[in-house]
Amino acid sequence: LAKERGKNNYQFYNSSLHEKNEKKMRIEGKLRKALEHNEFVLYYQPKIELSTNRLVGVEALIRWYNKELGFVSPADFIPIAEELGLIIPIGKWILREACRQCVEWQQLGFKNLSVAVNISPRQFKDPSFIQTVVNILEETGLSPHYLELEITESIMEDIKRSRAILEKLKQVGVKVAIDDFGTGYSSLHYLCHLPINTIKIDKSFVDGIHISAEKVAILQTIIDMGHRLQFEVVAEGIETRSQVDFLVNHSCQVGQGYYFNKPLSVNDFEKWYIAQAFANKA
Ligand code: C2E
Ligand code: MG
Ligand code: MG
Ligand code: MG
Repeated sequence: LAKERGKNNYQFYNSSLHEKNEKKMRIEGKLRKALEHNEFVLYYQPKIELSTNRLVGVEALIRWYNKELGFVSPADFIPIAEELGLIIPIGKWILREACRQCVEWQQLGFKNLSVAVNISPRQFKDPSFIQTVVNILEETGLSPHYLELEITESIMEDIKRSRAILEKLKQVGVKVAIDDFGTGYSSLHYLCHLPINTIKIDKSFVDGIHISAEKVAILQTIIDMGHRLQFEVVAEGIETRSQVDFLVNHSCQVGQGYYFNKPLSVNDFEKWYIAQAFANKA
């Protein structure tokens, strides 16, 4: 399956508005049937402790292959699923599958493996969301502290409601990360008073160290702020050794990116896991 990527990648970006609408409509029709046709799989990208190179967890990332459309990027179909409300059943499937897989890996002896799952805004606000999380944890047997939910700064738009949801999630015992941190509008006032565990610094800031002194200053400031507010700080989109060095020097503990791994299929992750576990012992 992976070999076909690129070759048969559904083009979305480089097209006119009219073409985009037409493509969106084609995606919609297929998306409505994708779950029942088993067209989704989850890939997993390792999260690495930067100073030791050790695995600390994985982020689940959805992949969709449709016979006619080929591979469709989640950046293209998740917003459509969100708009159509399909994100509710699809999101439930993602959460269940990620938790199930994590338990399977733990049972195989993959130690202390935690899993992060992206939650879209509509899913987060859905009245049955908390119950869904509780049910899936119970169903799969995953201990709540091994699950981290990645949400975005858009939760700041309705701070009262979001706070209530976050408080309940804390009671359930799952962790929460703010994904793509720095790209939205976070009120710093609210940020430090919300029950959030982690901020994930957006790739655009990590890229900054190769761009300009100003961008470096921003990256450094975000890391420092995160630490002062006692969040775990995770860097996304790490592609170079010098980014790793910079982050370690500024005591950003955890990161993910192509420098370490692309998101991996279950099979490839298991192969990689065994190889690195062996290498770390030797
Ligand atoms: P995200 O959650 O911020 O995920 C990070 C994205 O950056 C992923 O793209 C990942 O493959 C990519 N990435 C990781 N490391 C690097 C790197 O070093 N360089 C570059 N250029 N890219 C890197 P992906 O898998 O295409 O997902 C895109 C977005 O779609 C995600 O951003 C997330 O917002 C959404 N998404 C993906 N899977 C899910 C899902 O299961 N549920 C929901 N609700 N959204 C998802
Ligand atoms: Mg994410
Ligand atoms: Mg992100
Ligand atoms: Mg992102």
